Amino acid sequence: MKKILVVEDEGKIVRLIRDYLEKEDYSVIDARDGEEGLTAFQRQEPDLIILDLMLPKLGGLEVAKEIRKESQVPIIMLTAKSEEADRVTGLEIGADDYVTKPFSLRELAARIKAVLRRSGGSPEESGVIDRGGLYINTESHRVELDGEELDLTPTEFDLLSTLAENPGRAFTRKGLLEEIGRYPGENMTRIIDTHVKNLRKKLEGSEGEKEFIETVHGVGYRFRRD
Ligand code: CA
Repeated sequence: MKKILVVEDEGKIVRLIRDYLEKEDYSVIDARDGEEGLTAFQRQEPDLIILDLMLPKLGGLEVAKEIRKESQVPIIMLTAKSEEADRVTGLEIGADDYVTKPFSLRELAARIKAVLRRSGGSPEESGVIDRGGLYINTESHRVELDGEELDLTPTEFDLLSTLAENPGRAFTRKGLLEEIGRYPGENMTRIIDTHVKNLRKKLEGSEGEKEFIETVHGVGYRFRRD
């Protein structure tokens, strides 16, 4: 049974999420402020974290930053409509997805399922991609650059393996979102751009001149063909 940590100070929202997810066969633990959230993350080792951005004591972005220092556990942010800038920052820090309040529990559950599936690897796409010093194992979700293991979030991993499986092929941002099983919704351009920016940073590695992901102006992105 997958264990989900809900970090949210509004008791009513916590109860709704808990009831729904327990019926879906998840085990749910909760924390009511940012500090408690970090403690629960360290002690309970959840499989996924649902993280509200507006939290007492320690804000959601700070919590996400702390978690990312030691773990790539999937994080789904709960955000308000007015928090667009924070949402982008959250994705930059390494959160995997977000839902905007008010959200439907069905939608949240669908996002959870998608993020967990991605982080657990999808068996039908098993294989190894090895290109120019970059090694991607889509079964074990391991990525190495010049022999050094890289820490990627599930979304970054999906984007990179989608691009690397099709070197030379240009993808639109919308196409990429579809490939990784995300709905092409609002702000999709910025979200893909943010993830690609993070990926490029992680891919700089020892040989800085290698640009694996190329920008295709007016279209989107493609993986470099050697
Ligand atoms: Ca809150």
